Amino acid sequence: MSRQSRGSVSKDKDKDKGNDESGEAWLCVGCKKEFKESSSRMLECERCESHHCSKCIKLTDSEYDLLNSRKDLHWYCNKCESKVFKSIHLDKEIEQKLEVFWAKVEDRLLQINQEFEYEKQVTQTKIQAVEVVLKDLREDMNNVKAAVDKQLVQKDRELKELSTKVNEIIEGEEGEWTEVVKKQVSKSLELVSDNIEVVQNNIHQTRAEADEQRDRENRRNNVILYNVTESSGSRAEERNKDDATFSLQLFNSLQVGVSEEDLVRVFRLGKWDDPNRPSTASRPLMVQFASYSVKNLVMESLYKLKNVDQKFRGINIGHDMTPKERSECKKLVSEAKQKEADDSSGEYIYRVRGYPGKMRIVQLKARRSTLVKRP
Ligand SMILES: [Zn+2]
Ligand SMILES: [Zn+2]
Repeated sequence: MSRQSRGSVSKDKDKDKGNDESGEAWLCVGCKKEFKESSSRMLECERCESHHCSKCIKLTDSEYDLLNSRKDLHWYCNKCESKVFKSIHLDKEIEQKLEVFWAKVEDRLLQINQEFEYEKQVTQTKIQAVEVVLKDLREDMNNVKAAVDKQLVQKDRELKELSTKVNEIIEGEEGEWTEVVKKQVSKSLELVSDNIEVVQNNIHQTRAEADEQRDRENRRNNVILYNVTESSGSRAEERNKDDATFSLQLFNSLQVGVSEEDLVRVFRLGKWDDPNRPSTASRPLMVQFASYSVKNLVMESLYKLKNVDQKFRGINIGHDMTPKERSECKKLVSEAKQKEADDSSGEYIYRVRGYPGKMRIVQLKARRSTLVKRP
């Protein structure tokens, strides 16, 4: 029988035999008849597997034989036919949708692939760039390392040399080293002593200046009389009294109104019994006035000396100068003499004028008739 077992006819044949023996039968869904013969012309729906006799489905013998002989021809019962068609349509639709889907998937895959390729290239380019940088870095590092190695070797050598030198100094030249230190120390000491000397000099200088100032103050009100004949009195007091009297008479002759009270002290400079002093030479006579103004009056009246009594002639009056002032004065006097010698015109004379400390050289018109020679 039956299309249901097309392709396995022999098996069916065996089964059919069995079926015959076991009394198995096929029920037609249309006429509800049972068919027990294996040669009964029946078709089986390929979908629901129901059986139909050729009479019910109005199939001729030749049609039945054709269907039975061809495997590419299919048969479905009425009930299943529409479902099968529907299914075929759906299938086709799915197929088309799948085609679209796969096309999209392929597109997407292609796109992804392209993107991937692009990214790959970008990444490769980047990797290549990094590799170049790495290579440069490695080269730089090698260079630096080489330079550092070189430096280290150099420093090491220098250190060794230095160490050798230090050892030489410590081991072999200890004596010399000590000498160097000694020299340094004595040099420093010399410097210190020089400094002390400078300070001492400064102190001495300051003290000398103060002494000089005090000396000047003490001599401020004094005058010195030269060429005053020494008294022949045997006692010092007697001689001193004679000097005081003589001085007062001299000042009175200058008409400056000096009284006994204006004279504080009158005394001779130098020793009375100096063996080096010639008997004819008189010692300078110092007169101390009570005030500076009285002394000034006397000094300003010196021009009157040339007109005084015969017994006062030849006497000179000068300032009581400190040694320093004296040497300054001497210097100025010699300068003045030099100036006068240098002046070939002969019209001028040069003299030192002014009080101690303020002395200067003055140029005067030479008037030979009235010229007074001064010491
Ligand atoms: Zn039937
Ligand atoms: Zn069916």
